Amino acid sequence: MKKKILITVIVLLCIVALIIFLCVKNASRNDKQSQENSNFKIVTSFYPIYIMTLNVTEGANNIELKNMAELNGGCLHDYTLSTTDVKKVEDANVFIENGVGIENFTEKLLQIYSRVKIIDSSREIQDIISNGEEQNGHIWTSLDNYKKQVENIAYELSNYNSENADIYNKNANEYIAKIEDLENRYKEELSNLSGEKAICLNEAFEYLGRDLNLDMIMVETDHEESTLSADRLRSLIDQAKASNIKAIIIGEDDNTQNAETIATETGAKIYKLKTGMSGDYSKNSYLDDMEYNLEQLKELGN
Ligand SMILES: [Zn+2]
Repeated sequence: MKKKILITVIVLLCIVALIIFLCVKNASRNDKQSQENSNFKIVTSFYPIYIMTLNVTEGANNIELKNMAELNGGCLHDYTLSTTDVKKVEDANVFIENGVGIENFTEKLLQIYSRVKIIDSSREIQDIISNGEEQNGHIWTSLDNYKKQVENIAYELSNYNSENADIYNKNANEYIAKIEDLENRYKEELSNLSGEKAICLNEAFEYLGRDLNLDMIMVETDHEESTLSADRLRSLIDQAKASNIKAIIIGEDDNTQNAETIATETGAKIYKLKTGMSGDYSKNSYLDDMEYNLEQLKELGN
């Protein structure tokens, strides 16, 4: 009899222990789930903004960083918002954009997800280049603008996610210091480019050219220099000959056909630069691209 009672007690104890174990396990899973859901979610519009934000947020706690547009999807300035991309912004706390009209869909996004906060990285950037009708939004090819964009992102992220404010500011300062080093090298090593004439067939380089004080004929091509008309091409060749232009600047991934035609007819040399708009998700890709451009541009000055 005693033995029977003992067995019953042991069985009951086992059942109680099992129930406690299951309860604890479930509670910890719920905890983990709520922690995941409470992460601060950051979505960037496209590659250059992603790389800036990747640097600013490195080591931040309880955050998730996503990029909306496809990697190497090119420039957003002629992009149409897809349903898949809209969905990526669904649970975002903040959406970080370049600004200056590159993301012409931000209003639409806000209509769909009104609670998402928009961070405009171009805030307070002065001297936006305009052709009268349209502003040139490719501001990040200017190292000086880029620093301001990084600063803006860090500042706004610190407001919306104060938990990581110290990390954001520290990261931004370190990143900006690296850009400044590069900026100093540009100033020292490329000072002889001032006043140098060039034809530029990719509007992304208008800001870079301005910083270097290049005397550039800017040709708007929507990054597709193959769209040039035969007349426009002829007049460019005439201009290049008349002004003795020795350099043609295009994007690394651009079609080279027109540039080659101009080069053949005028003897000018083609320089392929990086736009900072494509690459892998490595945090130094902008620095690497601008370093690469520095080396290319040194040749232009020789
Ligand atoms: Zn563009």
